[in-house]
Amino acid sequence: MKAPSFAYQKAANLEEAMQLMHQHGDGARLLAGGQSLLPALNLRLTHPQWLIDIAGLDELRGERLKGSVLEVAALSTHRELMQSDLVMRHVPLLALAVPYVAHAAIRNRGTIGGSLALADPAAEYPAVALACAASMRLKSVRGERMVAAADYFQGLYQTALASDEILCAVEFPVAQPGERFGFQELARRHGDYAMAGLAARGQWGEDGKLQALHLAFFALGDRPVLAQKAASCLIGQSIEPMTIRHAQEALDQDLTPPDDLQARAATKLHWAKVLLGRVLAEMALDKGASSDE
Ligand SMILES: Cc1cc2nc3c(=O)[nH]c(=O)nc-3n(C[C@H](O)[C@H](O)[C@H](O)COP(=O)(O)OP(=O)(O)OC[C@H]3O[C@@H](n4cnc5c(N)ncnc54)[C@H](O)[C@@H]3O)c2cc1C
Repeated sequence: MKAPSFAYQKAANLEEAMQLMHQHGDGARLLAGGQSLLPALNLRLTHPQWLIDIAGLDELRGERLKGSVLEVAALSTHRELMQSDLVMRHVPLLALAVPYVAHAAIRNRGTIGGSLALADPAAEYPAVALACAASMRLKSVRGERMVAAADYFQGLYQTALASDEILCAVEFPVAQPGERFGFQELARRHGDYAMAGLAARGQWGEDGKLQALHLAFFALGDRPVLAQKAASCLIGQSIEPMTIRHAQEALDQDLTPPDDLQARAATKLHWAKVLLGRVLAEMALDKGASSDE
């Protein structure tokens, strides 16, 4: 199929992109890497009147360390993130997740901003943002605001972005001493969207016990979900077969995946428990990733 007809404008700078979004509102879509938008257009799943191309905007590129956060600009491609020393050192969970995003050709063009704006429930970055307590920098002609990941993802492909807003950057708190990270997903083939996944961040004390734990599951609901009951079972504990089993049982209260064409809800819950066991074992052995102390 071919895309429906639309008008196209390449924004010369961020200011112009914001003006154009303000002018065209709901009838406009931003074009970043095009790796989700162009297939959606060709399948006629979306019918914008305007495409505002922001791909050339240098002000939306790169990563910068700003005190206790790493700011990752929206047009950073998956490939750039995979090769970034700053990401590897300061946001190890993002570095663990990137190789699972799509295939090399898509990683060359697709962007973190596009992924977080689309908010596919099976995508990796939304869960990483939630587990890391990242914040999104949103801008429009009306001004700028920061939205915490916990408030940003609002439903199936729904975010806090207003129709005239541009996601300009994501701020990830930098990894702290004693933090460890784990990431796992189940997919039919490597690079496919996940059928179930888990991004985890834990803070270990010197006594070998967990002081804090953030378990962000994805592809198991309409948005990434923090498994708070399972995490609270593990706080103050060391990771052992018995504590892992308790946390896996607690997932029954945290997750309510839907039945769908891929699997029944009970099967998905089983996958989530398997992933939790694997990720916790990985983190306990410090085989995922840890902060650069
Ligand atoms: C075969 C295939 C497999 C894939 N597998 C995966 C996978 O396993 N995991 C995964 O996470 N993704 C996967 N993707 C999607 C890929 O990661 C996309 O790159 C990403 O979802 C969108 O990024 P983009 O830059 O291409 O955005 P675009 O396609 O340009 O835009 C996507 C949407 O976001 C909006 N948008 C883009 N940038 C901004 C911004 N800065 N502010 C506000 N709105 C914005 C656009 O208007 C559009 O609605 C896959 C894609 C394909 C085609």
